[in-house]
Amino acid sequence: MNNKVFLNNKICNIEEAKISIFDRGFLFSDGVYELIPFFNKKPFLFEEHYKRLENSLKMLDLDNPYSKDEWLDKIKMLLNYCEYDNFSLYIQITRGEPLSYNDGIFREHAAIKKYKTSVSMFFSKINDLSESFIRCETAITLEDKRWMQCDIKSISLLYNSYAKTLASKKGAYEAILFRNGVLTEGCSSNVFIVKNKKIITPKLSNLILHGITRSYIINEIIKKNKFEIVIEDINEEDLFSSDEVFITNSTQGVLPIIKINNKKINKGTCGEISKKLHQLYLKKIN
Ligand code: PMP
Repeated sequence: MNNKVFLNNKICNIEEAKISIFDRGFLFSDGVYELIPFFNKKPFLFEEHYKRLENSLKMLDLDNPYSKDEWLDKIKMLLNYCEYDNFSLYIQITRGEPLSYNDGIFREHAAIKKYKTSVSMFFSKINDLSESFIRCETAITLEDKRWMQCDIKSISLLYNSYAKTLASKKGAYEAILFRNGVLTEGCSSNVFIVKNKKIITPKLSNLILHGITRSYIINEIIKKNKFEIVIEDINEEDLFSSDEVFITNSTQGVLPIIKINNKKINKGTCGEISKKLHQLYLKKIN
């Protein structure tokens, strides 16, 4: 039951889900994606994720193939086949393949033809997040060499996956990126540091993905529980001299980072503020 995917209005088995090699997503990474977490089978922050998907589409001048109600119907159709309680729903929309190949041109950079949009969706299990056990991870730092529109959730993730592979080869979970000496984000997460009980995170800009978890943690958890939040630039020295570091994303919530480039943060243990935020987040999703 967990091996079904949605492809262009059809539910199919994983092995049957095929798209054209002329799809612009395949040739040019011309597409966007969104990842929506479900906890206890219920979507968490669906509206926020849907809005970001619409924004990403708009910024790449891609048409939304469905109305919101149609999306909800199609998601429901796929999730009939999902047996997990906690999972993420991956949605990908690419500009697709040309409606016609009559001109004999199979690949051209400019998207100036009419195309058949491709929509695919699948779900993946989220490992249970537990209040009693908090997972702590390690990271490396790297120069941020991505393009300047990281606020679009584009499927062009070559540098993110390259950097995360480097991290993994060094035994680390995440690569924390710096552009011109200023921290931007992780390859698949937003980054926070804690210094003298102040929680600090970079401002929103075109240089980072506007994480749904980042906003939620700031507005619904940090502010409402009277922690101090400061939105400002973070440099390498700030990162390495911080009391705590944690990253956020939709599937992990709050994930403490206890070692960066072999340097221990908080003596290599999970900090109290990170732990508290993790627990408060879990209360909200359960
Ligand atoms: N930044 C990047 C580059 C990411 O890939 C992600 C995860 N999608 C995030 C931040 C966190 O975003 P969210 O909280 O919406 O999952």
